[in-house]
Amino acid sequence: MYEGDIASVLISEEQIRDKTAELAAAIAERYPNGAPEGDLLLVGVLKGAIFFMTDLARALPIPTQMEFMAVSSYGSSTSSSGVVRILKDLDKDIAGRHVLIVEDIIDSGLTLSWLIRNLSTRNPASLEVVTLLRKPEATKLEVDVAWVGFDIPNEFVVGYGLDYAERYRDLPYIGTLDPSVYGG
Ligand code: 5GP
Ligand code: MG
Ligand code: MG
Repeated sequence: MYEGDIASVLISEEQIRDKTAELAAAIAERYPNGAPEGDLLLVGVLKGAIFFMTDLARALPIPTQMEFMAVSSYGSSTSSSGVVRILKDLDKDIAGRHVLIVEDIIDSGLTLSWLIRNLSTRNPASLEVVTLLRKPEATKLEVDVAWVGFDIPNEFVVGYGLDYAERYRDLPYIGTLDPSVYGG
């Protein structure tokens, strides 16, 4: 599939599976009795986090519910500006709920800081973040991310939900894109 487009496999399917199990175990420790106020609420940011979110939900030994948000961040296709617009909001009120934001990747962290500020104003009982991937830039941030799957180099990656111009989300692993795809 996508022959010649993927330069290298950065994180294999097996590595993703193992890491998801590890993260699920760590997250479950944070909610020892589940989330009594109506189950832990996973909030996924469309579309990149969908595969991670569904795999994480199945790996978690506590009951969870799922909500999705879609946001658009003004900027180029490979970087964000921090100016965020809601394309699809949550369907439910999260006041009093234990909320876990599930992210695919944190780069500048601008999207995530905005999201944390936005969801905080809705008075959840607790608000935490798990991300599968984190780039070097994000470690400079003040944003508190409770669980990180992999710290990766500053390269553009695709697969397992992550796209380039809406393609490659369906790859089961995370890889780097061959420069020829960019028109190089
Ligand atoms: P941030 O606001 O942290 O700079 O950007 C976060 C968003 O930018 C991610 O949710 C993702 O949509 C996009 N993004 C950042 N880095 C990458 C990358 O390496 N590959 C892909 N496909 N998207 C990325
Ligand atoms: Mg994201
Ligand atoms: Mg994208």
